[in-house]
This record gives sequence, structure tokens and C-alpha cells, in this order.
Amino acid sequence: MSLTKKDTTVLQNFINGVWVSSNSSQTLNVPNPATNQLLTKVPVSTKDDVNAAVAAAKEAFNKWKKVPVPKRARILFKYHSLLSDNHEELARLIVQENGKAFKEAYGEVQRGIECVEFASGAPTLMMGETLSGIAEEIDSEMFRYPLGVVGGITPFNFPMMVPLWMFPLAIACGNTFVLKPSERTPILANRLAELFSEAGAPPGVLNVVHGAHDVVNGLLDHEDIAAISFVGSQPVAKYVYERAAAKGKRVQALSGAKNHHIVMPDADLDKAVQHIISSTFGSAGQRCMACSAVVVVGDNEPFVKALAKKADELIIGNGMDDEVLLTPVIRKEHRDKVLGYIEKGIAEGADLIRDGRKEIGDYPEGNFLGPTIFDHVTPEMTIAKDEIFAPVLSLLRASDLDQGLEYIRKSRYGNGATIYTNNAKAIRQFREEADAGMLGINVGVPATMAFFPFSGWKDSFYGDLHVNGKDGLNFYTRKKMITSRFEA
Ligand code: NAD
Repeated sequence: MSLTKKDTTVLQNFINGVWVSSNSSQTLNVPNPATNQLLTKVPVSTKDDVNAAVAAAKEAFNKWKKVPVPKRARILFKYHSLLSDNHEELARLIVQENGKAFKEAYGEVQRGIECVEFASGAPTLMMGETLSGIAEEIDSEMFRYPLGVVGGITPFNFPMMVPLWMFPLAIACGNTFVLKPSERTPILANRLAELFSEAGAPPGVLNVVHGAHDVVNGLLDHEDIAAISFVGSQPVAKYVYERAAAKGKRVQALSGAKNHHIVMPDADLDKAVQHIISSTFGSAGQRCMACSAVVVVGDNEPFVKALAKKADELIIGNGMDDEVLLTPVIRKEHRDKVLGYIEKGIAEGADLIRDGRKEIGDYPEGNFLGPTIFDHVTPEMTIAKDEIFAPVLSLLRASDLDQGLEYIRKSRYGNGATIYTNNAKAIRQFREEADAGMLGINVGVPATMAFFPFSGWKDSFYGDLHVNGKDGLNFYTRKKMITSRFEA
């Protein structure tokens, strides 16, 4: 299976249960990042396309909200089984459009399926609360209700997992949904919609509108959209949060990251190196939970040497090849931007101890970049502050844990952080003082599972209720309180 049957020329939108062409004739190319061969084209849909999808979702909501919760959950059970049956095909589609290694893509599909699993518990999740006797002969009850039409806007780096953070739970709670996938990885979204429809979702419950800024703005401004779930880069997350909130919508906007890993002097060297290599260079560093800054505590030259040696051994190439760990970045323009960051790192005085630019010439057909490591980076340098989103690692030196924690505190981002140590006191201090929302203790990618919130802090998140877990449930429902007097 390469592309779905709908995808041979220009992708179509999915509105009210049918595949329709966009009103716009403008398209963008969707190339395979490993080869730059054209996979398909994505339409740059218009506000009229958005309006049609929102109208369908609004109409569908009137019926969908009344479907008993166990019946809604049964559709998710069926969806779960269809996604599982097509696990490999979905993973291959991810490799084609995103470029990541098949093993990573396979894991991503699994993570997406787990979100459906969580949402399938809707009958239990949706339960309210009661208290008999809040006053004499008076009781109180809380019921949960859906919000209405929810808009979801997603990034290129997890074409399966991120949409599935959103629409299964939103829909299980009784909402209807309009998804705007990344225009750089739009193919999988159509397959997800196709399978959801096959699972029995009625027309209009899930709609997909492809495109770019106009579609996003159309969703943010639409008066019939009650809430926006967004995942993407920091400037866009802030923009989405402010614009949608100004229109009175509920918003959760997950944003960029700069995740620090602290290596304590007592850390198991081999394990720390292994975790950091896979966290930094897996998916070409294009993960919001990727390690992008390592704080080396103490004079740990053996660690730095071992890390650089392991980076030398990484196999670069097409994600469909089994051995490959380092895959391409998403577009040539992104690679050019990363090359600019490497220049800047050199100009600002960091030591380039491994230069990944040298490997580019070996892979001219795709957007490849070899593992790049800077040493003696200081927190003020641009490469320490910005999210580069590529296989580029900064090593910062610290005399003790306090200084390492200070670096984390100084970062504008607070998605994740990890410590490598077996020292209980250091672990506790890290847990209490690290200024980030998802922490790892000897764990390279401390991403949370579907039943916990994905819990970024600071500029890594705008809003108050995160995706997944009880936060996700609270985000996609509103509560109604009933107070009843029973005196004769
Ligand atoms: P992006 O911000 O470029 O795009 C995200 C979405 O916003 C896309 O659908 C895109 O079409 C839309 N968009 C982009 N620019 C826009 C604009 N000016 N106006 C309106 N809409 C716009 O992000 P990306 O490059 O696709 O994804 C990578 C980013 O996402 C990284 O910063 C990464 O850290 C972040 N991310 C965060 C999390 C998290 O959980 N915090 C998870 C995954 C990805």
C-alpha cells in the first residue's frame, strides 16, 4: 500500500462523510523527505471549505450529542480494531510522508491506538458526581456535556499520534470535529478519516480540511467552533491561543520545546549515552520531547567522548531500511534553517565537536543532516535558547546539579527534562526543582501515555487543560450542576 485511493493527484477534503475537492485550485507539493519524490499534492483550502465543514459538524452535533455514550464508545472499539489491523500500513504511510524510521513510525501508531483505547472508556470517564444532602433535603448532581464543534490543528512530526490525541476523545465525549492536518504530512489524516468512517462514525462527526493559514484562521474565527486543540511551533501556538481565546473559545495550544538532560557524575555512562543518542537523533531530532541540550555535571570527559563516538556510528538513511536511526528532516528549507543555526553556534563561540554538515554530500537526494554536537555551549547562546528541531545537540557544562537546574529554569520552554543518576537525593531535588512538566529519571523520552496529561509548562504550552488523561476529558466537556430540593 502506498497511498490511499483518494490520494493519487490532489488530496480531497472529507466533509459530511464524503470526499470533496477544495474550492481552491492552489496546491502544495508533498514530497518524501528521504528522496524528494512527489507523493501527492495537498489543496490550500479556503474559508468556504472550512465553513462547509463546520456547518456539517454543527448539523451532526445535534444528533451525535444524543447518541448514548456506550454506543459512541462502541464505534471507538471498532476503530481500535481497524487501526490495529492496519498497523503496518499506517506506519509505512508515516515513513513515506514524514521520513522517520519505520520502527519509530510503528511505535507512533501504537501511541495513537492507545489514545483510542483511553477514549473508549467514555462511559466511565463521562460520569458526573453527586452529593446527597448538601443542605436539609437538598441534593446536588454534576453531569458532563459536550461543547459542540471542536477544531484541531496538528503538526508534521506526529501525523498519527497528535490527531489521535484530539478527535477520538473529543468525539467520544459527544463533540463533533474538524481536523486541519499539517500540510507537510497530510496523507495519513485521510486514511484515519476513512477508517473512522468504516468504524461507523456518522457523516459530519469527523471532518478533514487540508490547507494552511487560511484554514487555521477560518477555524479560529468561526463562531460555531467552541474549542480549539492546537499542537505546533511556539510562535504559532501563541498566535492560535490569543486569537481563538479573544473569540471566546476554549483553547489548548501545545508548543515548542528545548529539553535538557542532566548527566550526573555517577550516571551509568553506557546507558546515558544510549538514551541521549536515541532521544536526540531519533526522528532526526524532530520530536517535542527530543533531548536537545545535555548538561554535563562535573568534569566528565569519558561521557563526552563516548557520546561523540556513538554519534559517529549512527546509520543515516531512508526510514524504510531496518538499520537506519538517523532519517531526514522534513524539508530542504528546514535543513537550510538548521545550517544557519550551526553557523550561528560557531560564530557565538561554541565548540563544534561533531560536524553533521559533512554528511550532507553523501545523501543529495533527501533532506539529510548528520549528527551535530556542540560542546561548551552557554545558556546565552542562540543554539542553547532556540528550538532547532533537528539532529543538533548542545552540551552545557555545570559544576553541580544546582547549576544544571538553573539552566533549565532559564529556558523559556518547559516541556520535558531528564536526569541520569542513581543518587536518591539528586533524583528528589531534580523532581522538586526542575522547571518542566514532564520529567524523566533515567528515561530518554519521558512522554506520557494517553491516560496522563501531556503536561508542558512555560512557553511549551498555552492554556490550562492539557491533552489526554483527565485534562483532555475536562477540556472536551462542560459541567452542569443540578441542585434539587425534596421537601414536601
Ligand atoms: P507549525 O507551527 O509550523 O505548524 C503547526 C500547524 O500550524 C500546521 O497545521 C500549520 O499548517 C499551522 N500553521 C503554521 N504556521 C501558521 C501560521 N502562521 N498561521 C496559521 N497556522 C499556521 O509546526 P510544525 O513545524 O508542523 O511542528 C513542529 C513543532 O510542533 C515543533 O515546534 C514541536 O516542538 C511542536 N510540537 C509540540 C508538541 C507538544 O506536545 N508540545 C508535540 C508535537 C510537536
